Amino acid sequence: MADRRRFTISLRTRLSLSYVILAIISVILVNILTGIFLDKPFREYALQNQEQRYREIVSTLSGQFRSGSWDMAGIENIGVAALEQSTIIKVQDNSGRIIWDATKHNNGICRNIIEQMAKNVSSRYPGVKSSYSEIPYPLVSADLHTIGTVMIGNYGPYYLNDRDLAFLNTLNLLLLVVGLFSILFALILGNFMAKRLSSPISSVIGAAQSISKGLFSKRITGNSKTREINQLTQTINDLADTMGKQELLRKRLTSDVAHELRTPLATLQSHMEAMIDGIWEPDTERLRSCQEEIVRIGKMVGDLEKLARYESENITLNREYFDLSELVKRQLQNFENEFLTKNITADFFGSEEVVYADRDKISQVAVNLLSNAVKYTQAGGRVRVRVKGSEDVTEFIVKDNGRGIPEEDLPYIFERFYRADKSRNRMTGGSGIGLTISKAIVEAHGGSIEVHSTIDVGSEFIVTLPKGTRPAD
Ligand code: ADP
Repeated sequence: MADRRRFTISLRTRLSLSYVILAIISVILVNILTGIFLDKPFREYALQNQEQRYREIVSTLSGQFRSGSWDMAGIENIGVAALEQSTIIKVQDNSGRIIWDATKHNNGICRNIIEQMAKNVSSRYPGVKSSYSEIPYPLVSADLHTIGTVMIGNYGPYYLNDRDLAFLNTLNLLLLVVGLFSILFALILGNFMAKRLSSPISSVIGAAQSISKGLFSKRITGNSKTREINQLTQTINDLADTMGKQELLRKRLTSDVAHELRTPLATLQSHMEAMIDGIWEPDTERLRSCQEEIVRIGKMVGDLEKLARYESENITLNREYFDLSELVKRQLQNFENEFLTKNITADFFGSEEVVYADRDKISQVAVNLLSNAVKYTQAGGRVRVRVKGSEDVTEFIVKDNGRGIPEEDLPYIFERFYRADKSRNRMTGGSGIGLTISKAIVEAHGGSIEVHSTIDVGSEFIVTLPKGTRPAD
């Protein structure tokens, strides 16, 4: 009971959860990998870009020194243009005299630029300690003389300008959106898949519950595209079929046994009563008739016992090598009288066929099939018995041109107490277990028994036994 109350999750939740977890893991993985494979190269690219810009500033500044003097207007232009690109420069000549200084030109802008740099860097690399410094670059004239120095304000160790940062932020936003959509899709897909899986499973559960309550008529309809689900529904439907048939047979068996017992018991009772009441003289003939009924009941009980024995799971086989043809011929001779009485022609075809089987039990199969052939073939009929071997099986065939078996009865004739003749013609004396026993014996040998029959044309029973090699014992 405690087990049943244990916390359980529905397939739907479980599947949706699995999909979402998978999506989250993928998103995290993509983020980590982007960090590893994109961040460092991007930083290097940004640094190279910056270095390139600095070199350009240095080279244009160097070009402003002509015939021993500085072009002040040109330098100012370069300085202002650099400021517009958030670069603070200070130009000095060889003697250390400041020619142009951005902080002098507009200190407010310079301070803003430095603040913005700090903000950019700390927003992207919050843990990294960065600071502002000025890097000196020598200014060299066309004839390779040092003409001065330019100090370029630099924020390090990493620096990202607004465009770099905007690119990275867009990328992050994109990853975030993709991540959120993945999780949303995972949730929808998980839910959808779970629904497709769980609804057929629910109907299987419903059908199985009906079966467990003894309602065998319920079937699961609808086809799933999942192979295993289809197999499951098919299995449950087959189970319901089998159980339904078993149930039918069980009911039939009970009523058959009751019916079989009632008739002789009723006869016995009326005979006894008549004798007790003095209506009948208890003479030998009457007593013999009573005895016959008792024998009939005894035979019936004996059949039931025999059946119970053969139907118990493991029939023990005492296998030996023997010639099946010889055994069948002998049984055929034992039936000679019956064949003669009914004027039935019996023929045997076949030569020596050695099998490794239980002689007595196979004998019993032969007796059952031959006695049926005699019972169900009308006078003047014909019975053909054949034994033939192939490379790996030996076949034993009993064919008659008797009354045949109705098609609707064919699937059931190997069932216990099943008799195609529902009128229960007691003259035939059969109790409907001969074929059940035969089938149990043949299957215990690893063989099979099948029947072909057409009503009013005849029946053919084919017993196939594997060419028994001695089992490894
Ligand atoms: P039974 O004791 O009634 O013969 P079986 O188990 O041997 O029981 O056979 C089951 C039923 O199969 C029979 O009642 C009969 O209706 C049918 N059957 C078996 N063999 C033949 C046959 N050779 N020809 C026609 N019907 C047959």
